[in-house]
Amino acid sequence: MTALDVLIELLQRADLRGGELKYVGHVEVSHWLSEVFECIDTTGLLSVTSDAELTFCHECLEPHLEQVVYTTDAAGASLPAIRCPTHGRVFIDRADLKRWRLDLGAFAGALAWSLGGKTRELLQGRCWSLGSLALGQAVVSLYLVRGASWPDGPETFETTCRLSTGAAVFHLGLQTAGRLPTTVRWTPLSEALRLEANQIVFRPDLALASTGRLSEYSIRRTGKLWQLTFAGESGMVPDRLGLSYISQLLTYPRRDFDALELSAVEASLLPGGVNPEDMTESSSGTDDEIMDDEYRTSVLARLGALDAKKSQHGLTAEEAQEGDVLRQQLTASLAIGGRPRRFPTETGNVRIRVSQAIRRAIEVIRPVLPGMAEHLETFVSTGSTLCYAPDDPVSWQT
Ligand SMILES: [Zn+2]
Repeated sequence: MTALDVLIELLQRADLRGGELKYVGHVEVSHWLSEVFECIDTTGLLSVTSDAELTFCHECLEPHLEQVVYTTDAAGASLPAIRCPTHGRVFIDRADLKRWRLDLGAFAGALAWSLGGKTRELLQGRCWSLGSLALGQAVVSLYLVRGASWPDGPETFETTCRLSTGAAVFHLGLQTAGRLPTTVRWTPLSEALRLEANQIVFRPDLALASTGRLSEYSIRRTGKLWQLTFAGESGMVPDRLGLSYISQLLTYPRRDFDALELSAVEASLLPGGVNPEDMTESSSGTDDEIMDDEYRTSVLARLGALDAKKSQHGLTAEEAQEGDVLRQQLTASLAIGGRPRRFPTETGNVRIRVSQAIRRAIEVIRPVLPGMAEHLETFVSTGSTLCYAPDDPVSWQT
């Protein structure tokens, strides 16, 4: 574990409700490399506090937790010990009782100091101002908050503790609750921390720029996953065809797409594909041959089977003819560049498939970002044409 890993784990612990995990004991610290401890010590997060009042008996094979009591030796020094049912009085090394408190105030102070400013605790134990940061043309206020995922988060950060509009808010945990104020950006603090030369450095600028969180609304595919941000809240969902359609609709708000146009989006994402922008003109009435995706797949499978049979046993005349016809159909169904051509009577079927794909994608989004699912359900219409038309304009990064 690097110092950054340890720090992030401690921050997540500090984000939990309840106080029992707010302390770091000597045993835990002794498992860290000394440079890890030194590095974390400079962040201010660990504050030495009163010695532990409970400790494990080290004399017994089966460790048992006992209250620490103090006895005085002949020279008048006080010695920590526990009472063990088996071994009687067992003396404890005082160093083993040392413990640290997770001190978010001091930690916030160190973050603010690294930006050249001072912290202010705006809400006890929950919210600290970290000063401001010039980001491009804008000056952004920065905050550190604890408990962004707690049930009281929305009320706390909307009403009790008002955050400046456009501010960047760093939260300790990885998740936020739903319905947090959307006038600020929410970013896990872990994304703004870097480990450089055994120093933890706070780089809010990198976090805000590299993750595209300057936009509160984004939908992007990365490999087999989609990274979604809605109202500053982010989540990942697995790839679904409908997400490509949704992405396309969000890119061109208020524009009516026909289903064929949207279903061509997938093909256009392939190398050598067609920019969907170019497809609007040609999408009106055409009598081209068409194969829908399912039919094309079945044709390809049948051709594969025929080829296999041909190489092993040869084909009957009928099978050979079938193969020729299927190959002709397949060729005719593809325009230059491998793009499927359209056929107006197919529109109804395609529309149903596209609409269903969009609905399925919304259901994939729902558990991750319920607000986004609701938003799409409300503002994406899947009638005779498909369109995303929100009441208030939303600027999506796609
Ligand atoms: Zn014991």
